[in-house]
Amino acid sequence: MAADGLRTDKIWMDGGLVPYDQANVHILTHSLHYGLAVFEGMRCYKGADGRSAIFRGREHIRRLFDSAHIVEMPLPFSQEEILKASSFTRYHHNSLPPNAKLSGPYVNSILAGYEARRHGYDEALLLDVTGFVAEGSGENFFIVRDGVIRTPPLTSSLPGITRASVIKILDDLKIPVVEQLFPRDAVYIADEAFMTGTAAEVTPVRELDDRQIGEGKPGPITRKVMEVFQAALHGRDSRYSSWLYYV
Ligand code: PMP
Repeated sequence: MAADGLRTDKIWMDGGLVPYDQANVHILTHSLHYGLAVFEGMRCYKGADGRSAIFRGREHIRRLFDSAHIVEMPLPFSQEEILKASSFTRYHHNSLPPNAKLSGPYVNSILAGYEARRHGYDEALLLDVTGFVAEGSGENFFIVRDGVIRTPPLTSSLPGITRASVIKILDDLKIPVVEQLFPRDAVYIADEAFMTGTAAEVTPVRELDDRQIGEGKPGPITRKVMEVFQAALHGRDSRYSSWLYYV
């Protein structure tokens, strides 16, 4: 059931727009019982010129189709049809494919989030089955130390569209970024840490397991990435204009 924040007048369903209250599925729906569903969360921003654009809309729809392909789910629409409709301990990769954005595995994220909040934190950082940092419950993760940025490879985390955007931004800023496994103590001694995701955008992390990270406030690289990313989102940086899908 949609949270109140998700309430809209209409929902695009099975090829057409229907009133919010009529967008229902049958009680015996397979996805409901077995958790086999694929989905995307996307955000739409108003640009400097007043037009609205979905941030990296095409990439989100592509990942939706990749997710469906991985679990052998036929989709009755083309990527273009969907784009044009209205806006709308991590498991081991041998158990569930981390590169697909599936519904069922989110139970893992939800439980980790509950535990983190019970201990007074805002978000969970999940480790992979070998104890290396994987990702947040709904975000990818980056650390900075001595000017070098590290983010875990995609062995136990979702190929985040924000992650890919941030890697490109860092590349353009000539700040070295490496995809590498690292343990949780590398986070304790990092100068800066931040999470990335469609909902989180670029969010600084100031503390993990009661250890303050760096100075406990957004560091210079995090702030720079946040600034460029915001400019990209709102169409203020022409280098990234192809990331905006105008609606
Ligand atoms: N990891 C997980 C588990 C997620 O659910 C999300 C949110 N989609 C992300 C990372 C970040 O991905 P994106 O930047 O594409 O939103």
